[in-house]
Amino acid sequence: MSKSYSVVIQGGGPVGLACAAWLLQKNSGLSLLLLDRNPADDADIQAGDGRGIALSHGSKLLLDTIHAWPDHCPAIHQIHVSQAGQFGRALMTREELKQEALGHISRYTDIHIALRKALRFVQKNSPYFVWHHTHGDSVPIFETDCLVHAEGGLFKDQDWIESGRDYQQSALVGTVNVEKIIPYQAWERFTDEGPLALLPSHQGPNILNLVWCASPHSSQRRLDLNETEFLRELQSAFGYRLGTFTAIANRRLYDLGLNYRKQVCEGHAVWIGNAAQTLHPVAGQGLNLGLRDAYLLAEKLACLFKVNNQSQHQVQKSLQEYAKSREIDRRATIGITDFLARVFISPLLPVRLSRGFALTALQWVPPLKTALARQMMFGRR
Ligand SMILES: Cc1cc2nc3c(=O)[nH]c(=O)nc-3n(C[C@H](O)[C@H](O)[C@H](O)COP(=O)(O)OP(=O)(O)OC[C@H]3O[C@@H](n4cnc5c(N)ncnc54)[C@H](O)[C@@H]3O)c2cc1C
Repeated sequence: MSKSYSVVIQGGGPVGLACAAWLLQKNSGLSLLLLDRNPADDADIQAGDGRGIALSHGSKLLLDTIHAWPDHCPAIHQIHVSQAGQFGRALMTREELKQEALGHISRYTDIHIALRKALRFVQKNSPYFVWHHTHGDSVPIFETDCLVHAEGGLFKDQDWIESGRDYQQSALVGTVNVEKIIPYQAWERFTDEGPLALLPSHQGPNILNLVWCASPHSSQRRLDLNETEFLRELQSAFGYRLGTFTAIANRRLYDLGLNYRKQVCEGHAVWIGNAAQTLHPVAGQGLNLGLRDAYLLAEKLACLFKVNNQSQHQVQKSLQEYAKSREIDRRATIGITDFLARVFISPLLPVRLSRGFALTALQWVPPLKTALARQMMFGRR
């Protein structure tokens, strides 16, 4: 027999979990079903995807509201941006932007687990919440007034393609040991093949998270290299600002592209997080944008379902209002990320020169730097 819920969230990744926790925090009497394909045991999650994720200061403020800030989340106090073999460099610091931190780095698994714990906490006071793990189990039959799609997914693994672009790039991620470190500093270096980022890590005093974007062919080749050969190539792409690279661990590959829905709601269904837009990681914006989706949708739905049995018309109207409220932020974040991804993977000399000028302008025109940094830290509201 089918059961009826006001809201059903499909997808128990970071965005779906955050949306559920914010919904219940704001409306503990809500009848909510969360369909989660992941195993119930956190230990199985811990063994999963350990890639480093940059969380913006805006995301920290949002996650703090549900006590979902992951443990071990080193701060970024400055970001050094440069390009290999060309002029142009920019340094963004927390002081000039008057922020406690420019961002933080956590592992995907740690964010996932922190959100699970936060949701378990609000679950205690939410009598009409059902958290159903579909892992190895069937999906229950249900009816709902509002279906939230938070199935996420990685580019090329998704069963939908709407608008976007295949950048013909893969990201090779891992953790790398360096000889010397500049604490709290993140590095973004634009090479002829694509951006190469080194981000702080909590996993050891001289360990950094690596995200190295290049063509799928080069990335696969580097994945297969032995450690010595890999480190030699990394050294030549990054240079010696951090001394010698001494070890690499946990190498993994991800296909990169842009895939986004023009309409994020239809009837009583709405799409958030990677289910709504999947971005290139060059600017570290995908999850940050998804968390803003989740927060604003939760605000809308928690308020709408304070009264049970909403009409279809009311639900659709609320979802359309939500979609409208997300337009500017989505457009700006997708647009900036797509622009950076295209500009910074081009090997053409005129583009490389323009990149140099752009980085120089960023360094010497403070309002430009502040505007860009604010968009990255807080999104557009
Ligand atoms: C290499 C790389 C680096 C990145 N770096 C950054 C970064 O620095 N900063 C940043 O903000 N973002 C970054 N991102 C993007 C970020 O990982 C995603 O935006 C984020 O994971 C999206 O979260 P999500 O919950 O929407 O989707 P996902 O993380 O994909 O989670 C979706 C969940 O839903 C589950 N699911 C799927 N289908 C179903 C179903 N039918 N029923 C139930 N459950 C289902 C899946 O098992 C999964 O657990 C990066 C991405 C990559 C590839």
